[in-house]
Amino acid sequence: MIQAMVIEEKCTGCGVCAAICSEVFEMEDALAKVKADPVPESTKEECVEAAESCPVQAIAVTG
Ligand code: SF4
Repeated sequence: MIQAMVIEEKCTGCGVCAAICSEVFEMEDALAKVKADPVPESTKEECVEAAESCPVQAIAVTG
């Protein structure tokens, strides 16, 4: 089981993470928000891909 966290101070609100993994990330007030905690096993790969695709490394994945 993994968990994702958005570091709000870094997030620019580009929307890439939500576009890649809408099961875990959603946009709210121009910032990304984690809506699935913990991350479901079925979306783990997408979640990691989203984190790796964040242009400002604002997503921390743990677990
Ligand atoms: S990809 Fe990164 S910068 Fe873009 S909305 Fe998601 S967390 Fe924010």
